[in-house]
Amino acid sequence: GFKMGIVGMPNVGKSTLFNALTRTAAAQAANFPFCTIEPNVGEVAVPDARLDKLAEIAKSKSIIPTRMTFVDIAGLVKGASKGEGLGNQFLANIRETDAIAHVLRCFEDGDVTHVDGRVDPVADAETIETELMLADLESIEKRLQNLVRKVKGGDKDAVQQVRLLEQAKAALEDGKPARVVEVDDEDRKAWKMLQLLTTKPVLYVCNVGEAEAAEGNAHSAKVAEMAAAQGNSHVIISAQIEEEISQLDDDEAQMFLEEMGLDEAGLDRLIKAGYELLNLETYFTVGPKEARAWTIRQGTTAPKAAGVIHGDFEKGFIRAETIAYDDFVTLGGEQAAKEAGKMRAEGKGYIVKDGDVLHFLFNT
Ligand code: GDP
Repeated sequence: GFKMGIVGMPNVGKSTLFNALTRTAAAQAANFPFCTIEPNVGEVAVPDARLDKLAEIAKSKSIIPTRMTFVDIAGLVKGASKGEGLGNQFLANIRETDAIAHVLRCFEDGDVTHVDGRVDPVADAETIETELMLADLESIEKRLQNLVRKVKGGDKDAVQQVRLLEQAKAALEDGKPARVVEVDDEDRKAWKMLQLLTTKPVLYVCNVGEAEAAEGNAHSAKVAEMAAAQGNSHVIISAQIEEEISQLDDDEAQMFLEEMGLDEAGLDRLIKAGYELLNLETYFTVGPKEARAWTIRQGTTAPKAAGVIHGDFEKGFIRAETIAYDDFVTLGGEQAAKEAGKMRAEGKGYIVKDGDVLHFLFNT
């Protein structure tokens, strides 16, 4: 599955947000019992109205949304890259994530202490990015040293790694995150394997006051500007509102949202933004027993998509009977779509499209 690490300075609302995320009715609606894998790891159902529609048409007994994992990563402080306090563990945790949700304090509240004594989300973002850059530099130095002998021995992979590490190092020494390095297609895999912290895509989460959840405020406007300049994205959320919503049932939550002038829960927007940031898409499997959503990367072939369900589906893949979501819904189900000639038999080279309803045929 895909993993988002929640990071941020202390006292910015990370835990509040994490708790809201993992306790919300949507998170628990799934057939899976809600699981907190570890105290700081939670799985969240990805909200998708299309899945409910498909289940309604197919009269599916159960609905199983696809899920995203969030990891609440302990507060970062200046000096984390030096391994002080929780620093090392913090960095190890971020390395394992696919993307970073960076929570920034955009709310004013005299009762909540800011570690640096002022509310300045852009400065906070820089503090954290600096720590991540320093950590990357340190790990690059270590790895370069370790690779010297292999390079002398003529190891091709080592030569490639050194070349990429040098490129990352140059960017970092220039005060820029490693994500600014432009990587050729043939280097992409090796680049990703380096697991540099500052190559992870970042979603800035502006935690604003309750009254500002719809429009944001001056602080979040500055974050928006910064995110755009970096090519990262941002969402505006009030962690406190989300916490309140997470304790309501669906109808109550809807009423509450309307009262606050919001058309969608911030958590839904956050999850969707994460999906977009990671170039993720959804396909569906639909039958009388269950309607289920599955997550893939954009550009995934049919056999790889089948492999998300089970490795055997990928190995023995024959073809995927495919109906586009719109056809399934407009025509009123699988049988009708088939009769209308809208069920395609797709082979190994087929690139799955967002919303496809798939039925895999495979050898066992
Ligand atoms: P963390 O250290 O980043 O995990 O921050 P917490 O989630 O523990 O929040 C720190 C404090 O800020 C708590 O007392 C929260 O109740 C408070 N807090 C979190 N979000 C908001 C918010 O949007 N507005 C206000 N006024 N307080 C908040």
